[in-house]
Amino acid sequence: MAKVYYCPVENSSSEEKISGVSLKLFKELVSEENFDLENKIPFKVHFGEKGSVTYNRPGYYKGIIEFLRSRKIEPFFIETNVLYRGERTTEETHKKVALEHGFDDIPIIIADGEKGDYSVGIQIDGKRFKTCKIGAEFSNFSQIIVMSHFKGHLLAGFGGAIKNLGMGFASREGKLAQHSAAVPWLNFFECKKCGVCAENCPADAIVLGFLPRVDRKKCLGCASCIAVCPTGAMKINWLSSTGRNFGEKLAEYALAAQLNKKYIYFNYALNITKLCDCVGKPQKKFIDDLGIFASTDPVAIDWACLDLLDKRKGRKVFRRGRHVLKYAEEIGLGKREYELVSPT
Ligand code: SF4
Ligand code: SF4
Repeated sequence: MAKVYYCPVENSSSEEKISGVSLKLFKELVSEENFDLENKIPFKVHFGEKGSVTYNRPGYYKGIIEFLRSRKIEPFFIETNVLYRGERTTEETHKKVALEHGFDDIPIIIADGEKGDYSVGIQIDGKRFKTCKIGAEFSNFSQIIVMSHFKGHLLAGFGGAIKNLGMGFASREGKLAQHSAAVPWLNFFECKKCGVCAENCPADAIVLGFLPRVDRKKCLGCASCIAVCPTGAMKINWLSSTGRNFGEKLAEYALAAQLNKKYIYFNYALNITKLCDCVGKPQKKFIDDLGIFASTDPVAIDWACLDLLDKRKGRKVFRRGRHVLKYAEEIGLGKREYELVSPT
């Protein structure tokens, strides 16, 4: 049975306090699980969309970073570009947002490169995927500390580690494969016929006529056209991937992201919002802070967070996140059964 290490945290605790609690959990996990730390360890983080105020703050990780440095271990922040057009679509602008949000302590790696197309294919035997496209830089590390903000998501429900693994490790192509039927669609009314999408299409799949047309047979689903379109006329096909189908894709990508690796997962169940940190505007907390969780099992840690969330609410209302975790367990990503350990 997996162990999930947990400390409650009071509402609006300082970053210093949260950093101290994180370090306590980290030391407990490393010691209890005989975790042999390597000399280079990245923190998989989410820098928060511009305008968001509830993402995990860099100060939460300071204690662990200093601890690693004291052991001569080199820490990094690592993240991938987003699928949609925004401030975090390219490496250059993404790093700018990260620095503006205070992630300036340690070097930043954008794992899928300047335009989100630097990826490796990981083979799995999934129902939805046989190959998952993961940011190539992740292959340079066998240990990663996956720092997740536990919160809601329109399609996947409430969760932390699995969403961070599944979506957060995927290159742009991988994100598109999970989110849609891979082929983008064009909103004619927003298109200014500039041809930038066709210039950037690696498969020559965009035919420029009166309006650009995507050739479905040639399209690779790389999403470059979505990223470069100056008006946002090229869109993600959200409607083709709702509910359980999306959750299964997410879980299979999560499986690929951690295959043959040894990760430590932290879920910060603080500033819990109904939508994810990609929303570029302030969101309201919908419940008091639950605390910080740590584990080496991504299924157990998310399940433990959902249990506590349900307990606080007094009813089982968050079903969608549990569907994802049941499927994740079925494909061997982890176990739902856990033992909650509270370090003294
Ligand atoms: S998703 Fe990629 S391959 Fe498909 S049309 Fe857009 S740029 Fe071309
Ligand atoms: S880049 Fe966007 S605006 Fe320009 S032609 Fe393509 S879809 Fe239209």
